[in-house]
Amino acid sequence: MSLRAFILLMLGLPLVVLGSVAALGQRIILPEWGRDYVLRFALEAPAGPLALPGVAGPKDPSRPLVVIDAGHGGRDPGAVGTDEAGARFAEKDITLAIAKALRAELLKIGTIRVALTREDDRILALADRPEMARQLGADLFISIHADSAGDADGVGGASVYTLSNEASSEAAARFAARENNADRVNGLVVTGESAVVSTILVELAQQRTQDDAAIFASVVLREGAGVLPFVTQPKRSAALAVLRAPDVPSVLFESGFVTNDADRARLTTPEGRQAYAAVLARAIRIYFARRAGEEG
Ligand code: ZN
Repeated sequence: MSLRAFILLMLGLPLVVLGSVAALGQRIILPEWGRDYVLRFALEAPAGPLALPGVAGPKDPSRPLVVIDAGHGGRDPGAVGTDEAGARFAEKDITLAIAKALRAELLKIGTIRVALTREDDRILALADRPEMARQLGADLFISIHADSAGDADGVGGASVYTLSNEASSEAAARFAARENNADRVNGLVVTGESAVVSTILVELAQQRTQDDAAIFASVVLREGAGVLPFVTQPKRSAALAVLRAPDVPSVLFESGFVTNDADRARLTTPEGRQAYAAVLARAIRIYFARRAGEEG
């Protein structure tokens, strides 16, 4: 696209959207400026409705909702390690135990709602995990994992991943394509609009989501400093399918390495997992307090 065409498009976009809304007789919902302005996308559910998990915590739906995703499950064990005594253990069990410990820690705060993508040892499609968060209207999505370094015994520590920029605009284009099929973006019917227009709408929403995810990742690292070991350069980004929700800030927390003795001791004991839960819960509380402060 030439620069001139792009400028015309950017200038024309609001008119196109307003025009199509007016033409279709839809009510225009004006956004409030500020932190409240979040685009929500009414996507058609793919094949069959997704079974949504229950939400624990305060009944007030205006309270922030965290969806915690225990990585892997069922026939997908994730990374597998062996302890000194020769007992084998699987990442899927570690992630579920940390997810439950984190939920318990968050519920103690009393103002944060919590849901888990899985409560037991079952397989969940990758795409369904963020989709659950979206359908529940989550404010934050955290996918918990543990890593394996193969024979590299020394490697240990936690890291926090956000979606990489390239992956994020790819995902925006894909979501936009789905939106076009469903004929809706942000509740507005966009039939007849070009894929470019709806991609831009999705990207606008997604930029804010990415910024929030990056802020949350920084808070986790700050709160975890001196409490948990982290890898060098612990703030990372990658094209991870589980982080592709365009409207829910999402991070993947790699808690540690099952192949590292010190990490394994933390990952496989209740006291050790409590350390992860405490750091994450504190980061979540601070992140929401900060958002509430900006909005209030
Ligand atoms: Zn994993």
